[in-house]
Amino acid sequence: MCGIIGYAGSGNAVPIIVEGLKKLEYRGYDSAGIAIRGAAGFEVVKQKGRLAALEGRIKDSPLKGSLGIGHTRWATHGEPSDVNSHPHLGSGSRIAVVHNGIIENYKQLKERLERRGIVFASQTDSEVIAQLAEYYYDGNLLDTVIKTANALEGSYALGIMCLEEPDTLVAVKKDNPLIVGVSDTGNFIASDIPAILEHTNKVYYLNDKEIAVITEKDVRFFNMDKEPFGKELETITWSVDSAEKGGFAHFMLKEIMEQPKVVKETINSANIELPDISQFNKLVITACGSAYNAGVVSKYVFERLCRLPSIEVELASEFRYKDAVVDDKTLVILISQSGETADTIAAMREAKNKGAVTLSIVNVVGSTIAKEADHTIYTAAGPEIAVATTKAFSTQLIVLYMLAIKFAARLNRLSPEGEAELLAEIATLPGKIAEILESVDFIQKYASECVGYKSIFFIGRNIDYAIALEGSLKLKEISYIHSEAYAGGELKHGTISLVEENTLVVTISCCKRLHSKILSNAEQVISRGAKVLLVANTNEVESTDKLSQIRLPEIHELFSPSLSVVVLQLFSYYVAANKGLDIDKPRNLAKSVTVE
Ligand code: GLU
Repeated sequence: MCGIIGYAGSGNAVPIIVEGLKKLEYRGYDSAGIAIRGAAGFEVVKQKGRLAALEGRIKDSPLKGSLGIGHTRWATHGEPSDVNSHPHLGSGSRIAVVHNGIIENYKQLKERLERRGIVFASQTDSEVIAQLAEYYYDGNLLDTVIKTANALEGSYALGIMCLEEPDTLVAVKKDNPLIVGVSDTGNFIASDIPAILEHTNKVYYLNDKEIAVITEKDVRFFNMDKEPFGKELETITWSVDSAEKGGFAHFMLKEIMEQPKVVKETINSANIELPDISQFNKLVITACGSAYNAGVVSKYVFERLCRLPSIEVELASEFRYKDAVVDDKTLVILISQSGETADTIAAMREAKNKGAVTLSIVNVVGSTIAKEADHTIYTAAGPEIAVATTKAFSTQLIVLYMLAIKFAARLNRLSPEGEAELLAEIATLPGKIAEILESVDFIQKYASECVGYKSIFFIGRNIDYAIALEGSLKLKEISYIHSEAYAGGELKHGTISLVEENTLVVTISCCKRLHSKILSNAEQVISRGAKVLLVANTNEVESTDKLSQIRLPEIHELFSPSLSVVVLQLFSYYVAANKGLDIDKPRNLAKSVTVE
């Protein structure tokens, strides 16, 4: 997830683009860059690191012009570096491009262009857009953009300039956001409203495969058949401040809502290069916090699909000091959003010292764990700002499911048809998560009645128990209400003594074969005075004043945590919101725990 901005106007584009990028930095901050159409051609400044580093470079250069594009990057392909930063130019410096998204067929396109002698400068997927557009350019930028976009597979929001058309900026998008802003002093493109809100509150929202041709004086829209059409101009009424969260009260809510998109991107981009699982007799999954909970979920999936003799999940902070029994026949999977979690780094180094092969699942490109692990798979969650993880967790689950499926296939425990069926099931998740997000009103209302509870328990059996751990962690992190998660069958062995009036037991039931078992557990707590919120994919039970329920869409049991967790995230969010707490920065916590 990157931020892009472009300007065609009467003013100097440089400060407009730099200030706009500051508002987009939440979308990525690996590196930043700017390209201006100067008197002699494109002038480009690109710099690894935060935007401040780019600003420093710009101060020292005489960059000036009234047409330009800028980018703040969150790397998906190619490490964060100066050369991989956007804008990218074609090798003849005739086309300049900023890109947000992932080009899935970039390798094929790149090979084709290389065979024609075109030399690439970066490792990114995005450069192929600039090279291809330059290759296609035949005197008309609009035609070139149509031809180029038609050749691209994947997701993109693009800002494109061409040397031969010095007053024109062309934009097109598919599956990534792009707006066009208009003002008396010039016109804009941007990934998000705050980037241009200082200059205008009049915007057009670009839909997929719509092209905007922008000059200082006008904005014209075309479809992919080059037919012009009109669009409705909208007026933004948000303040600059609230717009940074895209209109959401908190980043956490915004990130919850982004899940259909990032889950889809992770499904599409997890081009998994795997170690040969048949050389291992043991799998250890190690992580901290929510990433550990993702590991617990995945243990059920790996066990069911791969049937390996030994599968363990360990807290990284425990693994690092326990003198773990791992060797070169062990695959150790490390999960970390930031890739900088101190305990997980230590666990990785410990595992490597003992000869184990390591595979990391990481969100931040170029982070320590990503670099040091033998194999790395990136989640495509984009930058996560709220301390309590939501979308990164969901994308970790996706990678883990896909890994389990690939391993099972390699071990001949899954037929090609079985593999295809499971992958098809995973492909339905973004739509089903979106469906849950539509029923936010009920969850919000229910949660608003829960702020007074002293304790809230989460129960489930099997994989529902695994996700109960995450539901409970989420709640305590942001609402400060005491909470614990239990396996339903374990209640009677002691925990039920904690259940009394003024206790809520969130009960998760997505394993049909265990539905009656967990319902008995729910009955047991209800008869001791508790209230139950049942999160289930059946509606066999009647709601009562003691039992409320939220129905989930149908999905294969193994992937159901991806649905139930969304309800649990929303529930925690709204409980905390009703308590008026600082949800994005809960007390005593930090986003990336780089200390022991
Ligand atoms: N795929 C591009 C890159 O890695 C853009 C990344 C994004 O939009 O997240 O540079």
